Amino acid sequence: MILDSSKILNDLKIWSHELGFQDLGVAGLNVKDDFSQLENWIQNGYHGSMSYLEKNKDKRLDPSKLVPDTTCVITVRANYLPEPLDHAVSTLKDPRLAYVSRYALGRDYHKVLRGKLRQLARKLNDKIGDFGYRAFTDSAPILERALARNSGLGWVGKHTNLINKADGSMFFLGEIFTDLPLDITARLKKNHCGTCVSCIDVCPTKAIVSPYKLDARKCISYLTIESKDSIPTELRASIGNRIFGCDDCQLFCPWNKYAKVTPIKDFMPRSRLNNRTLLELFSMNRDEFELLTRGSAIRRISYEQWVRNLAVAMGNSRYSRKTLSALYKRRFFPDQMVREHIEWAITRLENNSLNPDAIDK
Ligand code: SF4
Ligand code: SF4
Repeated sequence: MILDSSKILNDLKIWSHELGFQDLGVAGLNVKDDFSQLENWIQNGYHGSMSYLEKNKDKRLDPSKLVPDTTCVITVRANYLPEPLDHAVSTLKDPRLAYVSRYALGRDYHKVLRGKLRQLARKLNDKIGDFGYRAFTDSAPILERALARNSGLGWVGKHTNLINKADGSMFFLGEIFTDLPLDITARLKKNHCGTCVSCIDVCPTKAIVSPYKLDARKCISYLTIESKDSIPTELRASIGNRIFGCDDCQLFCPWNKYAKVTPIKDFMPRSRLNNRTLLELFSMNRDEFELLTRGSAIRRISYEQWVRNLAVAMGNSRYSRKTLSALYKRRFFPDQMVREHIEWAITRLENNSLNPDAIDK
């Protein structure tokens, strides 16, 4: 059978919209330049303890090493914002509330998107017959951002996320590796960051060390999710009330005035995670934490990391008797690393109690 590549692309675009994706492209397999940049970045130690990035180099460099016979990669993006951006900003500004990165408020995106990608591939299968494919989303050694950019889904901003002119940057990426001989879709000709440096200026920990270069070791997303260790003391105050990830460089990017609420119901906030106080989350025991985060991307962190992050955020909140006594109650937390963060928070709040401007009345 002779395949009509443009007809297939057209069908895929229609079906992908029906499934909740906003864009679809097709990328070739050449990601050599991005691979070299990754190598440099790792050599500089910017990846911190994410040693998995040092592995499977051959697969990252050549997608056909990950899935043999791959000829091209179908790329998609799906907006994840569950509510308008101004709600995120107001949560961030309220030191009593816990801020969870917007992508993690709903159901775990890995499961949701992989399911949708498989549905998309099956629709094509029904139409053209058998072909080889495998679906991925943030789950394998793949230079996802490079493939998405190469296929025209957006440009890489100075904060290192992909940006799309119509929708900003708050979207997930997904891929279908396939052996179909599809035509490649064109890469954007222009990067639209221009002279803007908002993301660099606004980053609380100055983790964007220069345009397009992120020192993950300073990034709040890394510190609150990837890192299982003690959070460096000098960075704790800048973490504010962010207990899982950080969105600031995206929230204050001018292109995100175009960010849209997702049509995917699974990404709507679960368990009121968009509106919880630090105090109520900090007081949860391990069982309650597990119940709260069942089926959520937050499960990526342990209960110890959760309590550690909350202790830091409580230390950054205004003094109140309730907050201080909640910290006292957990002073004997079994894990020494977590205990040290609780002590840090107690000291901060005790100091705040002497400052009338830092008291929650
Ligand atoms: S996610 Fe937060 S800490 Fe990380 S680079 Fe962006 S603004 Fe900085
Ligand atoms: S804030 Fe400005 S520089 Fe940073 S990614 Fe957005 S447009 Fe680019």
